[in-house]
Amino acid sequence: MTLSPREKKDLTNWQKGYEGELHFDELTRPFESTFLLLQDLLLKNHSTTFQVDTLLITPNKNYLFEIKNYEGDYVHDDDKFYHLPQSEILNPLHQLQRANALLGQLLTRHGITTPFESYLIFIHPHFTLYQAPQHPSIIYPTQLSSFLRKISPASNPLKGHHRKLADTLTTLHDPNPVLPDLPAYSFDSLQKGIYCLQCSSCSIALKGRSMYCEKCGHIEEFSAAVLRNALEFKQLFPSNRITSTSIYEWCGEIGTPRRIRTVLEKHFAIKGRKRGTYYV
Ligand SMILES: [Zn+2]
Repeated sequence: MTLSPREKKDLTNWQKGYEGELHFDELTRPFESTFLLLQDLLLKNHSTTFQVDTLLITPNKNYLFEIKNYEGDYVHDDDKFYHLPQSEILNPLHQLQRANALLGQLLTRHGITTPFESYLIFIHPHFTLYQAPQHPSIIYPTQLSSFLRKISPASNPLKGHHRKLADTLTTLHDPNPVLPDLPAYSFDSLQKGIYCLQCSSCSIALKGRSMYCEKCGHIEEFSAAVLRNALEFKQLFPSNRITSTSIYEWCGEIGTPRRIRTVLEKHFAIKGRKRGTYYV
C-alpha cells in the first residue's frame, strides 16, 4: 500500500522513537536486575489520556524520562524548538512537564504519593541543538553515560512498595489505544508474510519447526511466529474471522493450512464446525 507524505512522516517519527527506546534499553541493561523499567504506558487521568515514554523505578528514586531520538540540527529559541531549517516542533520539555503533572495526579488518586524526577533525554549521537538551554532536566547525548552512571542504582534491593507502584501503573495502562492517525488499510492492501522479530526482514524460511531469518540468522519457533501473526491479524482486522485459511494467507502461505490450524487450536477457542470453523 502507498502512504501519503504525512503518513510516511508519522511512520518515520514512530520508528525513530521506537529505536530511541531500544537504544535506552541497551544502555540500561547492565543494571536491569536492580530496577523496574516500564515503557510506553498509555494512562488516563480523569478524561485526559497521556503517554509516558519511560519510567525507571530504582531502590533510591523514581525517574520519568521523555526520550527523543532526534537526529540532525535543531535550534532552541524563545522557549521553542525548531528542526532546522525552520519547522517548529512540539516543545518536548512541555510534553515532559505535562506527563509529570498528570502522572502525579493519577498516582495520588490511587493513594501513591511517591515523587518522580523528570528528564528529557536526547539520545541520538548525531543530535545538535543550537542555543541549547542549560536546563537541569535536559540530558544531551554527550552527558548520557555520566548521567546513567550517576543514577545507576545502589546495591540495595527493590522493596514491596516499588513493585506495588509498577503493578498499579501496569494495571492502569490502556493496552488498546485508539489510533486516530492510522492510515486507511485493508487486508488486500497489506503485504502478507511473517517478518523477522529481530530485524523486521521478510526473508524468512521455514526449516522444520523453526522460522529462519536469512538476513540476520534469527530463529523463531514456527508456532510462536504463527501465533504472533494471528494476534496481529486480530488487532488489525477485528471484524475478520480468524480461520486457518485467513491466517495461512496472512502469514504469506508459509507451512500449510493444516499446520496453521494446529497452532490456532492450541491458543484460541474453536467456534463453528468443519469448513465454518473459526477461532476467538
Ligand atoms: Zn532477521
